[in-house]
Amino acid sequence: MSRAYNFSAGPATLPEAVLRQAQEEMLDFRGVGASIVELSHRGPEFIQVAAEAEADLRRLMGIPQDYAVLFTAGGATTAQALIPLNFAAPGQVADYVVTGHWGKTALKQAAPYVTINLAANTEAGGFRDAPPPSTWSLSKDAAYVHYTANETIHGVEYRDIPDVGEVPLVADFSSSIASEPLDVSKFGVIYAGAQKNLGPVGISVVIVRRDLLSRAGQPRADIFNYASNLAAESMLNTPPSWNWYLLGLTVKWMLAEGGVEEFARRNARKAALLYTTIDQSGGYYRNEVVPAARSRMNVPFFLHDAALDAPFLAEAKDAGLISLKGHRVLGGMRASIYNAMPEEGVQALAAFMQDFQRRHG
Ligand code: PMP
Repeated sequence: MSRAYNFSAGPATLPEAVLRQAQEEMLDFRGVGASIVELSHRGPEFIQVAAEAEADLRRLMGIPQDYAVLFTAGGATTAQALIPLNFAAPGQVADYVVTGHWGKTALKQAAPYVTINLAANTEAGGFRDAPPPSTWSLSKDAAYVHYTANETIHGVEYRDIPDVGEVPLVADFSSSIASEPLDVSKFGVIYAGAQKNLGPVGISVVIVRRDLLSRAGQPRADIFNYASNLAAESMLNTPPSWNWYLLGLTVKWMLAEGGVEEFARRNARKAALLYTTIDQSGGYYRNEVVPAARSRMNVPFFLHDAALDAPFLAEAKDAGLISLKGHRVLGGMRASIYNAMPEEGVQALAAFMQDFQRRHG
């Protein structure tokens, strides 16, 4: 068996140690005689898995006690629809900052429920920048301000937490959660689909300042009510237990590796190596994002001649480097280098890129 270096944007590579443990425990979970995925979510085994996942995530991210942590089925897109339903009155203004595809998606999901104020939008410039909060046109009585911390497709990242005053800041951290230390207390809501930095697809994490859960929101079914979900400890209905279990293993792995401080260092080195390789290629490769807004997690790049895309992907695959094709909305290439991507993987990619340029220069 040989595992490739997998640069997929999500579902994304998982730590090999996590996959091995899941494999080991697949048939017989810690002596119970059944897999965790075959056991009741109300039983002691799964209750412990769930509780440990939350405790470990709280420790990993330093989540304060006045924040609730929800584990929800459905992806980040579902959260994008539920956030206005839970935190805004019908038709209330909500501010949206759009710096890429996912900010646009968030806005689209919220549009039926709130009056959108487009506080900033970089689409006309091709989503290559993260305009500073001082330039955002925020409204006075917004229910919240929503922005995307890291745009997975366009490779645009806000590194500093925007200061939006008293209005709760709602942030999509799907592709950069737990990639570096973060002051959670600056946010109203942080949400993320798990399938990039936290584990498998099929579960999301929603971190909510508890006082916001008393907002009336809008008429909605109980299952769409975050307060009800919290009261039921994220088990209002049958939760995605396998995904929750894998998420828990992934968080434990991150703690064992040294936590977010260590991943911040590794991620900085990985991103620096890749951007340097691109920038020093004399235009053979190019990344079009304004340097200060370049994502540490998703590195989109183009070859100088699109006719080289197919051979690049084919030869990369032969070299054990997979899933480098860019998202269809942008084209070109994209290397996603989340926490679980080892530094050796990025070193192998950089070396391959230089070698490819020499051979096809
Ligand atoms: N937001 C961001 C930043 C994403 O990267 C993605 C998925 N790639 C989504 C939202 C949508 O997530 P999901 O597919 O889990 O709904």
